[in-house]
Amino acid sequence: MKIDITDLLSIENRIEERLTETDLVSFRSKLGDFPIRKKEPFTLHLENQDNKWLLVSGRTKVTLAMPCDRCLEETSATVSLVIDRKIPLKAPEGDEGEAEGAADYLEGCSLDVDKLVFDEILLNRPLKVLCSNDCKGICRTCGANLNHAPCSCCKTEPDPRMAAIRDVFDQFKEV
Ligand SMILES: [Zn+2]
Ligand SMILES: [Zn+2]
Repeated sequence: MKIDITDLLSIENRIEERLTETDLVSFRSKLGDFPIRKKEPFTLHLENQDNKWLLVSGRTKVTLAMPCDRCLEETSATVSLVIDRKIPLKAPEGDEGEAEGAADYLEGCSLDVDKLVFDEILLNRPLKVLCSNDCKGICRTCGANLNHAPCSCCKTEPDPRMAAIRDVFDQFKEV
């Protein structure tokens, strides 16, 4: 969603609270395309600081559908987002501010809420996603999901008789 902040930009030091939400339906990044399962409207606190800076802050959370790191089945991960940005309203003349470029979030008098939300997801997305803490993962041999049922290859213990024969072979090899 983009919100029009013409009023805010035209009145120095004006403060506004705006109820907004993101129109993003998925978080698409280099890592993949993760559908957004749940999101909620949230309040953005906006402040025109001395006609120089636009302060943007707010909190929300989104729930993403992501694959479990162990078994690869789709599970969900809730990401808490804390937006806190200081966006320059004019191109800095000479002095280099450490704030991010206005062009990223502001186009004329339109503030790009989706871009703000996207960047916060990028920064806060979980590095490890598990469907449950005791997810058994998948069998490295046959690829079966071990949460559903144990597979036969994982159960096969080395046969002690075979082990004895292997020992004999090993002895021959050493000679
Ligand atoms: Zn899992
Ligand atoms: Zn297996």
